Amino acid sequence: MNSNETGKNIIVIGAGASGMMASIIASRNGNKVVLLEKLSSIGTKLKATGGGRCNLTNTLPKDIFMQHFGRDGRFMTDALNAFNNENLKEFFLSIGVETDAPDGFRVFPIGHSAKTILNALQKEMDNIGVEIYFNQSVKNINIENNIKIVSTSSHEFKAEKIVIATGGLGYPKLGAEGDGFRLARNMGHKITPLYPAMMPLQTKESWVSRCRADTIPKVEMRVNIKKYKKLFAKGDLIFTTNGIRGPVVLDFSREITPILDQLGEVPLVMNLTKGLNEEDIRRKFNFNILNKPDMLVIDLVQTLLPHSIALALCDEVNADPNITFKKLSGIVRDSLISILAWTPLTIVGHNGFDMAMITRGGVSLKDIDPKTMQSRIINGVYFCGEVVNLDGPCGGYNLQWAFSSGFLAGVK
Ligand SMILES: Cc1cc2nc3c(=O)[nH]c(=O)nc-3n(C[C@H](O)[C@H](O)[C@H](O)COP(=O)(O)OP(=O)(O)OC[C@H]3O[C@@H](n4cnc5c(N)ncnc54)[C@H](O)[C@@H]3O)c2cc1C
Repeated sequence: MNSNETGKNIIVIGAGASGMMASIIASRNGNKVVLLEKLSSIGTKLKATGGGRCNLTNTLPKDIFMQHFGRDGRFMTDALNAFNNENLKEFFLSIGVETDAPDGFRVFPIGHSAKTILNALQKEMDNIGVEIYFNQSVKNINIENNIKIVSTSSHEFKAEKIVIATGGLGYPKLGAEGDGFRLARNMGHKITPLYPAMMPLQTKESWVSRCRADTIPKVEMRVNIKKYKKLFAKGDLIFTTNGIRGPVVLDFSREITPILDQLGEVPLVMNLTKGLNEEDIRRKFNFNILNKPDMLVIDLVQTLLPHSIALALCDEVNADPNITFKKLSGIVRDSLISILAWTPLTIVGHNGFDMAMITRGGVSLKDIDPKTMQSRIINGVYFCGEVVNLDGPCGGYNLQWAFSSGFLAGVK
């Protein structure tokens, strides 16, 4: 690569959301950009986001947005000041993609197709002369006199500045296999412990398998351990053959996996009945029975839950579903009402990174300057996106972070 007159030579590693943004911004700023991608096309993971619809960002103001990333969320202040959700929408409009937020919160490209986003990014990179090399998996980075020598199995590339945008470890078939962590570690950066996050969870209780495919809305879920009692989530839940999945589980799994790693199992309690407590349920049952005294237990419970779950929970407390509520013993009645208000479930495992939408952990924030995304260890090395130790919940948070940090990494 030969330097042009004003700009630098920049190598961006990884053509995902953050790497493409870094490449476009660096190139627009007059630099000569080479983008190296190990797969044969750009944005393979981006294409799969939001179920192919690409939930780009959300409508939250910056401060609240950052809170959703936990204690370290404030690290993103500069990136979001430089490029927030409004800037993201303007950016996409500038390359021909309109966005909307049908539910007032999650922002999608109009037409709800991730392909629209990929086509627009590809076109923009072609227009401004980002040089993309496909099937180039970066194996090694050496530094000689401040020049970074980036090696793949077939080529060697040199530049003053490199941007590591290699993603995390989740869904490895979509490209990101944790290479960036190894490359960063080899250059002296600390990598915090890595956990799969946003994925289905496996439970000890086998009754869940009988409730497969039923979606329960507005489930409240908390960790039933004193030390972690503040961990709470609410949203839709779906039972699987060996556990639970769905939006509420995806978000909660971010918190659960580190505890699971430490304790081996994590007890939860869930409210499957839209927040009704024991007293509410008892009152509702009494009202129903008053109007229809011969109502069977299963019919009563089904006023709250789908048939398969009603049946499974009756079984759990040995309540005969086919007799009237009055015929149950007092103890069984109490147990039934209690399990409906707070259903216990024990998390014992997960499928690892294979089905993890994001990675918790990454290049330590202490090793990165948040004003520029430049390494504090080696000048001219930048990080952006999921390779950095920040992760947010479902709802456009992680892509906004990828684009904002990519913007900052590309800008200087
Ligand atoms: C199924 C799924 C759905 C998701 N849905 C959403 C959503 O709707 N909204 C949201 O905000 N987030 C979503 N996420 C999370 C989001 O996709 C990621 O957080 C985001 O893509 C991270 O961007 P990135 O640029 O850091 O990494 P990636 O998008 O993973 O890109 C990294 C790129 O680097 C390449 N690469 C890796 N190693 C090398 C190497 N050694 N040499 C060269 N290239 C390399 C990879 O092939 C890849 O193309 C979803 C994730 C998954 C898996």
